[in-house]
Amino acid sequence: MSGSQPPGPLRSGADYIESLRGRDLAVYYLGERVAEPVDHPVMRPSVNAVAATYDLAASDPEAASARSALTGERVNRFLHVTGSAADVVAQNRMQRRLGQLTGTCFQRCVGMDAINALWSVTYDIDAAHETPYHQRFRAFVAAMQRGNLVVGGAMTDPKGDRSRGPSAQADPDLFTRVVERRADGIVLRGAKAHQTGCVNSHWLLVMPTMRLREGDEDYAIACAVPVTAPGLTFIVGRQSCDARALQGGDIDLGNARYSGQEALIVFEDVFVPWEQVFLDGEVDYAAPLVERFTAYHRRSYVCKTGLGDVLIGAAATAADYNGVEKASHIRDKLTEMAHLNETIYGAGIAASHESRPTAAGNYAPDPLLANVCKHNVTRFPYEIGRLAQDLAGGLVATLPGEKELDNPVTGPLLRRFLVGRPGVPAEHRMRILRLIENMTLGRNAVGYLTESMHGAGSPQAQRIQIARQMGLAAKKRLAKRLAGIPEEPGG
Ligand code: SF4
Ligand code: FE
Repeated sequence: MSGSQPPGPLRSGADYIESLRGRDLAVYYLGERVAEPVDHPVMRPSVNAVAATYDLAASDPEAASARSALTGERVNRFLHVTGSAADVVAQNRMQRRLGQLTGTCFQRCVGMDAINALWSVTYDIDAAHETPYHQRFRAFVAAMQRGNLVVGGAMTDPKGDRSRGPSAQADPDLFTRVVERRADGIVLRGAKAHQTGCVNSHWLLVMPTMRLREGDEDYAIACAVPVTAPGLTFIVGRQSCDARALQGGDIDLGNARYSGQEALIVFEDVFVPWEQVFLDGEVDYAAPLVERFTAYHRRSYVCKTGLGDVLIGAAATAADYNGVEKASHIRDKLTEMAHLNETIYGAGIAASHESRPTAAGNYAPDPLLANVCKHNVTRFPYEIGRLAQDLAGGLVATLPGEKELDNPVTGPLLRRFLVGRPGVPAEHRMRILRLIENMTLGRNAVGYLTESMHGAGSPQAQRIQIARQMGLAAKKRLAKRLAGIPEEPGG
């Protein structure tokens, strides 16, 4: 693989963090180029969340690693090609666990799901067109596994005028495209929006964003690009309350250690050697690639049930601190939150259990159940968040800052007037309320709420897939049979 590689195989979260240093990426935030994202107080929590995926693989290999059929070695599960339905289920269990440990988006599932989708789609293209994509892709995945690297998936184009396709946009770069094909590779131009964890990755897997038609050949491109490739610019998204990380302290952050990350990536004439190109011009395969990827990724959103576990625990703690945890209406709200959370998980884990082998041999989840999982995720975290704020009380939004605790005038007043039931210091109440604020209004509401709405496709995208797969004709036949209606012309 071309592109700079970090030294040696990365074993721990600390190794991973070191591997990100000194890359001189063109990362922009608050109007300035960021000298070292790893050490930036706003960006570091998102690095820590990815580091947690390495530490879990080290501390619990069953949960977060698997033996690779490619290398024969144990590899991080985020880089593993699924060899059974049990492997697909294990991804979901790992995702819930990491959601519980970080309370945020740990950023690696897009790459994991892109690896598994491209694995089978490249195989299918080669079978139809005698292209060399699958062998190239196998070599790429083996190199990622050996280096234990973070692979980000880059799918969502900016899309400009949504009523027009890629070739009909006023600016042809609003969808990422090939602008030149050379003897040694291709040149890419365009952008990818909302890219989860991209600055924290080593490589990006670029994929088309939607179904393409004849005439869109230059947009039908899938390839691997190192994050260090010349011509890439990363414009980091702002998150609600992110600047609190610049103000010192830790209480007001709610979750001081972990956050997610999204950025706009701009590609300005980025060169990609042929060995890293896995789809080039086969427009008919854009739709299968997007659909296979989204089937994996829409049930990956069980990650949010791990965050839900944290938020339910925070709401129960807030109620306990107020002395009302045992009140029947409080128990009922906590029960409702758990019901919603497990409903998300139920659909996701069922999609994984129902996995089937692809022609390429890896396993892919049930697409209908995966879409139902993600559709639940577009709604239920908002209701869980509403109930958490209900249980927290208004103080979740009116709480004075932690610096007031240190002030000689206000500190004693807060410690006296913000107490709850006996034995609970004001600071503990402040910490748990800040965590609820963090997940429902602050930094990690990006991951828990808005990403739940739009990540892996907005709600309408799932409704389209559910409508396609709901089997209405078969359901009508069932009804007519029991109602005693004979076969009718047209079904
Ligand atoms: Fe993984 Fe969830 Fe983040 Fe997507 S939103 S990358 S599924 S943690
Ligand atoms: Fe996401």
